[in-house]
Amino acid sequence: MKIICIGRNYVDHAKELNNPVPSQPLVFMKPSSALLVNDKPLYYPEFTEDLHYEVEVVLKIGKNGRHVQPEFASKYYTQVALGIDFTARDVQARCKAKGHPWEIAKGFDNSAVLSPFVDISEVNREAIEFRLDKNGETVQRGNTKDMIFSFQDIIVYVSKFFKLHQGDMIYTGTPAGVGPVKIGDKLEGFMSLKTEEKPMFSCEIR
Ligand code: MG
Repeated sequence: MKIICIGRNYVDHAKELNNPVPSQPLVFMKPSSALLVNDKPLYYPEFTEDLHYEVEVVLKIGKNGRHVQPEFASKYYTQVALGIDFTARDVQARCKAKGHPWEIAKGFDNSAVLSPFVDISEVNREAIEFRLDKNGETVQRGNTKDMIFSFQDIIVYVSKFFKLHQGDMIYTGTPAGVGPVKIGDKLEGFMSLKTEEKPMFSCEIR
């Protein structure tokens, strides 16, 4: 199982970190050991002093495929979830300054919070609204209609390089509002289904 992640997929988030808006999807991966499920807490890693949350809609790949063509791309994901791409922003900044890969800043243990999946038919697949609350206050609000690269664009692009396997996951990027956490903070993610807003996950920092 692969965890594929897309960076800078919302214009307002690229700008808040003074990054250029990409002309192609920015792709990186997290190992399966990064997954944090079942509302388990995250223990603040000792190697960072600037741990940031990034709330993201997550796709689950429903069938194997490579070189997926645009007209078929929407058939490759059948479920969506909400997650956090935890990022050690200080470590990432040092990696970026040296032109190094940034896996140690983004792929560390428990850096990928993941909620249970819901069927794609339960959401408005062209415009999924979601938000993240920190200690009861909303800090990020997003809608997948604002993505630079759509779910289909991402699947077409990624499958040129990596064969997609059933069960792979794609973190599709974060909207503006990313920020730091400290020990004791509680993060809660919500996603709008067709009928209701659903609490998807909660994650306490310890
Ligand atoms: Mg991210």
